[in-house]
Amino acid sequence: MTWDVWHVAPVITSIFFILGVFTLYQVAFDWLRNIVHEKKFSINDDILRSSFGVIYMLVFIFSMQSTIVGKSISWEFMNFIIIALIFCAYFLNIRVPLYFFVPIILIYMLFNNSLGYWESWLHALSVMLTYWSFNYIRRRPVRKHPFVGYMVVGVTWGAVMWFFVAVKFNLSQRVFLQEWSYLLIFEVLLYSYMRMLLRENDLKGRLVAFANHDALTKTENYAAYVSEMKLLFPNSLRNKLNLSMMMFDIDHFKQVNDTYGHLAGDKVLQKAVTVAQQVIDGNDPNVRLYRTGGEEFNVVFPGYDLPSTEPIVRQIFTALNNLDIQDGEKQIKITISVGVSSMSSSDDNPDDFYKRVDNNLYHSKKNGRMQITAS
Ligand code: GH3
Ligand code: MG
Ligand code: MG
Repeated sequence: MTWDVWHVAPVITSIFFILGVFTLYQVAFDWLRNIVHEKKFSINDDILRSSFGVIYMLVFIFSMQSTIVGKSISWEFMNFIIIALIFCAYFLNIRVPLYFFVPIILIYMLFNNSLGYWESWLHALSVMLTYWSFNYIRRRPVRKHPFVGYMVVGVTWGAVMWFFVAVKFNLSQRVFLQEWSYLLIFEVLLYSYMRMLLRENDLKGRLVAFANHDALTKTENYAAYVSEMKLLFPNSLRNKLNLSMMMFDIDHFKQVNDTYGHLAGDKVLQKAVTVAQQVIDGNDPNVRLYRTGGEEFNVVFPGYDLPSTEPIVRQIFTALNNLDIQDGEKQIKITISVGVSSMSSSDDNPDDFYKRVDNNLYHSKKNGRMQITAS
C-alpha cells in the first residue's frame, strides 16, 4: 500500500519497520527487567536479555514468514530474517553451538516447504555460518575498527545467502543486487541504532548506580535505603515475612576528626564499611548495608527475626570495636553503638520501623555507648 498510496519506497518503510521491531524489543525488555528486579527473581540480566531476545526474534520471524509461506515471493522477508539473526549473534552476543540451529532450521524448512531444494540446504548452511561469523567477530573484534569487521562479514555473507535465494527463486540480477544493497543499508542502520541504544542504556545504568552509592565508602546510600524499604516493607508485611534492621553509629566520631584530621576520619569510615561488608558477605549476601548518615549505617535483614539477627549483629559489633586503623605512626580505635529491632504488625510504614531502631540506638548512646540495644 505504501508505494501506491503514500508514494513511499518499500525500502523506507522497511527501515522504519526494522527500527520499530528493535525499539519494541528494547521497551519490552526494559519492562520485563524492571519486573524481574522488583519481584527480586534471581535471573541474571544477560540471561534474561538472551532468552527474551531469542524468543522475540523467533516469534517475529515465524509470524512474518507465515503470511507469505508457499507464495512465489516467500523470499521477501529474507532481509528481516538476516537482520534478526545478526541482532542475536552480534548485539545480544548469544553463543550457541552450531548444531543448536539444526532443529530450528529443519522446522523452518519444513514450515517453508523447502526441504527438497539443494539451494535451500546451502542457504541454511550459509545462515549458520553467518551466525557463527558474527558471533566470532563480536568476541574478537577487529581492534580499532569493529564496524569494518562487522560490515565485511555482513557484506560477504549477505551476498552468499542472497545468491542461493536468487538461484532457487530465479531472481534477476537486478533484484539480487537490489536486495543485497538493501541488506547493507539495514546492517548499517542496525549497527548505528544499537550503538545509540546501548550507549544510552549504559549511561542510564551509570547514573542510577551513581545516585544510589556513596562516593566515599562506595556502599549504598540513604536514597538506596529508602527505595529498597519502599518495596521490602510492604512486601514483607503482605507475605508475612520477617524483617529486621540494625543501626549503628560510630561513637565520638567528631573527636576522631578533631584529633587525627578529617582525612583520617574518612579512612576510618572506609575501613568500617569494608569490615562490616566482609562480615555480611560471610553470612548472607541478602543482608544489605547502607550508609544512611555521616557516621551512621543501617543494615537490613530480609527474612530475619530478632533472634536470628543477633549473631550477625554481634559479629559486626565485635569486628568494628576491634578495628585497627593505621594513620601514619598513630593507631586509631573506634567503638560503635547499636540499635536493633524487627518489623512489627503495628508499624504502618518504614519510618515507624526506622524510628524504633533509632530509639534503640539512642538508648545505647544514653546508656554509655559501645553497646547493643535490641527490642
Ligand atoms: P556520638 O557518639 O554521640 O555519635 O558522637 P559523634 O561525635 O560521633 O556524633 P556527632 O553527630 O556530634 O558528630 C558526627 C561527626 O561525624 C561530625 C562530622 O564531622 C563527622 N562526619 C560526618 N560525615 C563525615 C565524613 O564523611 N567524613 C568525616 N571525616 N567525618 C564525617
Ligand atoms: Mg557518632
Ligand atoms: Mg551520628
